[in-house]
Amino acid sequence: MSTAFFSDELTFWHSTGVQALFLPIGRWVQPPAGSVGADTPESKRRILNLLKASDLATKVAFPSSSPAIMEDLLRVHPRRYLDAFKTASDAGGGDLGDLAPFSQGGFEIAQVSAGLAKSATRAVLNGEFDNAYALCRPAGHHCLADRPMGFCLLANIPIAIEAAKAEFGVERVAVVDWDVHHGNGTQSIYYDRSDVLTISVHQDRCFPPGYSGAEDRGEGKGTGYNLNIPLPAGSGHETYLHAFRKIVVPALEKYSPDLIIVASGLDANAVDPLARMLLHSASYRELTALMMDAAARLCGGRLVAVHEGGYAEAYVPYCGVAILEAMTGHRSNVIDPELDFFSAWQPDDRMIAFHKELLAELQQHFGLA
Ligand code: ZN
Repeated sequence: MSTAFFSDELTFWHSTGVQALFLPIGRWVQPPAGSVGADTPESKRRILNLLKASDLATKVAFPSSSPAIMEDLLRVHPRRYLDAFKTASDAGGGDLGDLAPFSQGGFEIAQVSAGLAKSATRAVLNGEFDNAYALCRPAGHHCLADRPMGFCLLANIPIAIEAAKAEFGVERVAVVDWDVHHGNGTQSIYYDRSDVLTISVHQDRCFPPGYSGAEDRGEGKGTGYNLNIPLPAGSGHETYLHAFRKIVVPALEKYSPDLIIVASGLDANAVDPLARMLLHSASYRELTALMMDAAARLCGGRLVAVHEGGYAEAYVPYCGVAILEAMTGHRSNVIDPELDFFSAWQPDDRMIAFHKELLAELQQHFGLA
């Protein structure tokens, strides 16, 4: 098994300016002391650092990547949005959408981030690596074609997919989004298309605020090719695995993709400040193993993970390393010091039974029972 990990120091220099969690400071929002908002570079950089400090560093390749070029961006985003973004970025930064701030040079850093997703996808499709992880920042899955949102400035995964379609003629791609927030940008970009299956497993009504989504199945040619699996706040390890075994994997089997891309937000972890789920590192290891198995059976093992959210600086790295363990097939020497703690936080049997009832209803709803 050969695995590539794509990252770029510049992505850690992307700045959201000073925020309190995700709020712009101002009247009634006191500027935070010390650390700035939720989307810190450290929540990403510490994944890279832990990986490099572990014996996984010898099992993973760290290839370089090129920024996505305008031609790549224009396959997904209208020129007027890109022009407005570039102009604001040159002028010192701003926010052109909903909670998507950037500083000077944010445009170029977003190109670097999208380039990581593109390079990872390319490296798997050209056979250079069996699978690949792209440590993107800024993230991409909330970004609409013409409007940035929720820390996401460019649609990294659609940019990677459209580049792969142009270069390799890939016909069917499945995106499995396990970021705790809904993958609304990816959904909207592919809503009327059948050549990309979009699946989002997210905390019900978390972000976009109040959104659930099980009824939204796509439109036109895309009808049936969008699946939302909203889970109640407080769902944990067993509920997530059940959702993947009973809905995500069967949906992938039915679709039979040429490539699986995971939108890998790590913010369903038990201490994330922007959500209320209870996953831990072993959850991510097992979810990745399920995706590896599906990819092996359906598409020659071609699996790409593209980083999205994840804001618990101290804990996110253990989740990231666990994913890389599953991708490489190598159990590292890293010990998750909080695994016992978070394993004990899981919902009781009565609550899990309730979650499974909800999932059985969804399974029926999607015609996968
Ligand atoms: Zn998220």
